[in-house]
Amino acid sequence: MLEEFEKYPLTYGPTPIEHLPRLTEALGGEVEIYAKRDDCNSGLAFGGNKLRKLEYIVPDAIKSGADTLVSIGGVQSNHTRMVAATAAKIGMNCVVVQEKWVPHYDAVYDRVGNILLTRLMGADSRLVEDGFDIGIRKSWEDALQSVRDKGGKPYGIPAGASEHKYGGLGYVGFAEEVRQQEAELGFKFDYIVVCVVTGSTQGGMIVGFAKDGRADRVIGIDASGTPEQTRAQVRRIVDNTAELVKLGRKVSDEEIVINPDYAYPAYGVPSDETNEAIRLAARTEAMMTDPVYEGKSMQGMIDLVKKGFFPKGSKVLYAHLGGAPALNGYSYYYKDG
Ligand SMILES: *Cc1c(COP(=O)(O)O)cnc(C)c1O
Repeated sequence: MLEEFEKYPLTYGPTPIEHLPRLTEALGGEVEIYAKRDDCNSGLAFGGNKLRKLEYIVPDAIKSGADTLVSIGGVQSNHTRMVAATAAKIGMNCVVVQEKWVPHYDAVYDRVGNILLTRLMGADSRLVEDGFDIGIRKSWEDALQSVRDKGGKPYGIPAGASEHKYGGLGYVGFAEEVRQQEAELGFKFDYIVVCVVTGSTQGGMIVGFAKDGRADRVIGIDASGTPEQTRAQVRRIVDNTAELVKLGRKVSDEEIVINPDYAYPAYGVPSDETNEAIRLAARTEAMMTDPVYEGKSMQGMIDLVKKGFFPKGSKVLYAHLGGAPALNGYSYYYKDG
């Protein structure tokens, strides 16, 4: 579906799918749990889902003649870390606006984890006071202008690399990769569980899996706490991406499945159940998930298994999108494990 699009390699290529036997067992053994490890997809600053998206955005950035990548996220944004990594790797400057998206006050929250790595890679990281919003922001426009004012040429990448014309392509590629791996494994997954916030990860997957009629098997677990805004953004990304890859039909609203039940108490703040899910994945499979994103999709998957949402015998593929560096900003929760 992606033959026509240029791709700049930032990842190692296809990511491994692994069976998680101890997590499967801990959840009763009736639903087989697998993970696709996009958290291990690259040697660039710990990798993660944003690199899959950026692989299809970088050729456009290079062609534009830009010298500076500009982007935006929260203080512990994985996305801004990945943009900083990409800029370092391709030899561009980088400005990232980091907003106070999360009401969280660990003493070193703005010094460790993602933001530490971002600064180490030479990005100009600008902390601003604005609160959570996945849309396009004034602080971002201001950052673009500040590059122009200094005679530079900025290339803007929106939050999560999502509402970019090519933002959805990377995760169309994920679906194609899963189909290939299923052919090798000799079975198909019944469900894919994925965290959703800015929407192009799930949006891309929906378009990719729409090709073989199983877009509605992609279960998005909302971690934004603003699911209506996220759903509207996924809808736009799906429509734009479907047109780009010439899917040839409109994806229906029923094929966009987003579960809002696990984002509480707020974006970036884990519930007790999120923390229990993080501990369970760590203690059964040594698979690290974070309190902002993957811990919530892990919590959602665990709860859906326990509730019997997945029929007995189902094979569920957990898309692990990365994010573990943020754990460092939440040390107080885990001081006793
Ligand atoms: C960005 C991110 C997500 C959410 O992906 P979207 O494409 O923004 O919906 C999930 N997990 C991790 C680790 C992320 O960095």
